[in-house]
This record gives sequence, structure tokens and C-alpha cells, in this order.
Amino acid sequence: MSGDIIRPLDWIDTHAHVNDERFQGDLPAVLERAKQAGLKRIVAIATTAPSSFTCVQLAAQHAILWPTIGIQPNHVAEAKQTAWDEVLSLADRPEVVALGETGLDRYWDYTPLAQQEDYFARHLELARKIDRAVVIHCRQAEADVVRMLRQDYDKHGPIRAVMHSFTGDLATAQACLEMGLFISFAGMLTYKNAQALRDVAVRIPLERVLVETDSPYLAPIPHRGQRNEPAYVVDTAATLARALDVPIGVIAEHTTHNALALFGR
Ligand SMILES: [Zn+2]
Repeated sequence: MSGDIIRPLDWIDTHAHVNDERFQGDLPAVLERAKQAGLKRIVAIATTAPSSFTCVQLAAQHAILWPTIGIQPNHVAEAKQTAWDEVLSLADRPEVVALGETGLDRYWDYTPLAQQEDYFARHLELARKIDRAVVIHCRQAEADVVRMLRQDYDKHGPIRAVMHSFTGDLATAQACLEMGLFISFAGMLTYKNAQALRDVAVRIPLERVLVETDSPYLAPIPHRGQRNEPAYVVDTAATLARALDVPIGVIAEHTTHNALALFGR
């Protein structure tokens, strides 16, 4: 060994629910492991009005966190009448990097689709107004999400946005790429049965790819079944590097650059 100091590569986890109760006991240790793994930033993703406040608070305590604000489609129906106004009350905070997660979800039926669409449209409109990115959740609703994005795009032009934890097909990815969106891959990319998703991933230009953990959910291999945490973003990136047959440093460089561009930092 030469004794050289080997610095880890730079990473950004573009989607983590660090406000989840499963991190309540040891968040500082989780964030320290992330730093050791080379993470420069972790985007703390809100799903409700209360968690929007929590994400902003956590970001004030931990410099590695960038907060988002918003209401996830499955949480729209249960939200209080005042919830959207509460989100709006955080909108002029400079540290907020994005709105969301928002989007559409036809897998769960917690919120009627019309109401999901109403809130998705509100997030898009507010993002344009305050010049922030949009984090989009899409589950079994690809055609509807693309339809709404296309309507918005035709009226107003490109928007800074990401399809988070992408699991759609190539046609959906291409429709999103045409509108200038980024495509983000999470732990599922590493799963044995996810060859179709890897086949899509290798077709996404490196200029548009992001990585995320969606912690604490769906940890990548070799952590599958455990609580997911931001440090594991490197495992998803390693899978992408193998699928593309490029050095992992190429993935680090592009995804970090892309995340900075998406979030305007
Ligand atoms: Zn999420």
C-alpha cells in the first residue's frame, strides 16, 4: 500500500425520508455514515404539511440536508383543510430546494385521483412561481402523470423536475426526457427481478440520471430487508455502473452534477 489517502467519491442522495420515525433514535449516526460514504447532500423529502416543517427543521440542524415541502398524493385526502396553506407558509424559505413529493398514485386508493391531480397541479404551479424543482412520485399512473406534465409543458415550457424512484417503461422515460425531466433510480434497480428496469436505466443519457435511496424503504442489495439509509445510495450507483459498464466514478460525477442542476444549487 502506498499510504495515499483515498477520498470517497462525491454523492447526493436525492430522496430520503430522514424524518421517518425509524431514524428518530440515531439520525446523527446515520448522517455521519453518509458523510463517510462520500455523500455531500441528502434531500429530505416531505410527504405532509407537518413533515414539511420537520424537514425544514432538520435541515437547520444538519447542514448536509436540503429540505423539500409538499404533500404526497396518498396523504392528500387525510390532510387538514389548512395543510396547503401551511406548505405555502414555508415556500419563501431559501433553503427549500424542491416541492414534493407530489404526483399520482393509482396503486393505493387513499386519495381520489381527481384530488391527487388537483394537488399535483398546485405543486407544479407553485414550483414555477417560486422557481424550485419538483419531486414526482408516480405509481401505476405513468400515463396520467405524463398527460399532466405535457399539459403543463405545452402551456409553460420546461420545468426542473425528477421522476423519483423510477419504475416505468422506456416510453414513459423518453416522454419525460423530452420534457427535460431527470430520471432517478432507487434500490429496486439492484434487485434480481429488476432486469427490465436495468434495461431502461442503461438507455437514459448520463446527463439526466439521478440516484436516491428513498430511505427508509426498499434498501438496495446487499442491504435488502434492512432499514435503508442514505449511505446505501452507493450500492444503487454501483449497479448502474455495472449495467452501463462504466467506472463508478463516472456515475458519481454525473449524478452529483445533475442533482446540483436539478435543485438549482
Ligand atoms: Zn418518497
